[in-house]
Amino acid sequence: MKEFDVIERFFNCKSYQRKDVIQGIGDDCAITRVPDGLNLATTTDTLISGVHFPIDTAPEAIAHKALAVNLSDLAAMGAEPAWFSLSLSLPSVDEAWLDAFSKSLFELAEYYSIQLIGGDTVNGPLSITITAQGFVPQEHALIRSGAMPGDLIYVTGTLGDAGIGLGILQGKHDVSQHCADYLVNRLNYPAPRLLAGTALRRIASACIDLSDGLVSDIKHILKASQCGAKIQVDKLPLSVALKEAVEVEDAYQSALSAGDDYELLFTVSEEQKGNLDIALASANISVTCIGQLTGLKEKLELRYEDEPYQVQRSGFEHFA
Ligand code: ADP
Ligand code: MG
Repeated sequence: MKEFDVIERFFNCKSYQRKDVIQGIGDDCAITRVPDGLNLATTTDTLISGVHFPIDTAPEAIAHKALAVNLSDLAAMGAEPAWFSLSLSLPSVDEAWLDAFSKSLFELAEYYSIQLIGGDTVNGPLSITITAQGFVPQEHALIRSGAMPGDLIYVTGTLGDAGIGLGILQGKHDVSQHCADYLVNRLNYPAPRLLAGTALRRIASACIDLSDGLVSDIKHILKASQCGAKIQVDKLPLSVALKEAVEVEDAYQSALSAGDDYELLFTVSEEQKGNLDIALASANISVTCIGQLTGLKEKLELRYEDEPYQVQRSGFEHFA
């Protein structure tokens, strides 16, 4: 099978189809239409075998994660998914692998009504680059720079699961099958918080998705907004499986600094708190308040009950 056969068989016409796509896969460019009054949000993420996922990761998980991490960026801007392109570097044409990869990819794409509109297919080490685009109402994108001292800090879902999931795959933890399945699943199949992202428009003062670890990612908001933050470590939301799998200290360390959570971290002013509660209740989204912003520029204070708390390692960074 050659390049065009791969595109034709596994990627062309398999995707969820949208009315705003004038030209999808098959020409030199895709042509799409952005509705009046909406702005276009664009994001790209690359996953490389052995860097972003263990080399023996199932194709279904690789596909899900490659799209989910991009959807998570759209969620963090309050954007609604529309289109994506896929640049695929493959070491060989493995039809069973491509079949599993494309099925999983299109399943997630269909769930979020996002259409594959183009890409590139080349021969090389396994790597997946997705560029995703979505719509956000003018003036209502969830940017990193809108936070103010006194704003409350929230996160969606639970933190630290994926970090311990990776540790389990690396043989670092001896845990029950049930916990292992849950935590590895959180690593391989992150759920992008798109519903939360759109619900937070006009309510959150700043928002970011957690990909590199909480202490690392919150610094982007602190820098962009010129604020500090006080985080109450004992308030960080932990899953039942995480608490069962590791000592509580390891669970909080993972929640603070492990990557791959893909939860949203956002800030809300005291005045907007009532609106937040209403918006979350009607969308059935669970969030936890973990601290408050301060006026101490870019200073991050961690406390455990009433004591200062140290993080053992900061988040993931390439070239570090
Ligand atoms: P070009 O020669 O203009 O670079 P290609 O031959 O790479 O175009 O691709 C032909 C068509 O197939 C284009 O519309 C391109 O967007 C699409 N395409 C290529 N690879 C993929 C892929 N992995 N997924 C989706 N569409 C793809
Ligand atoms: Mg090309």
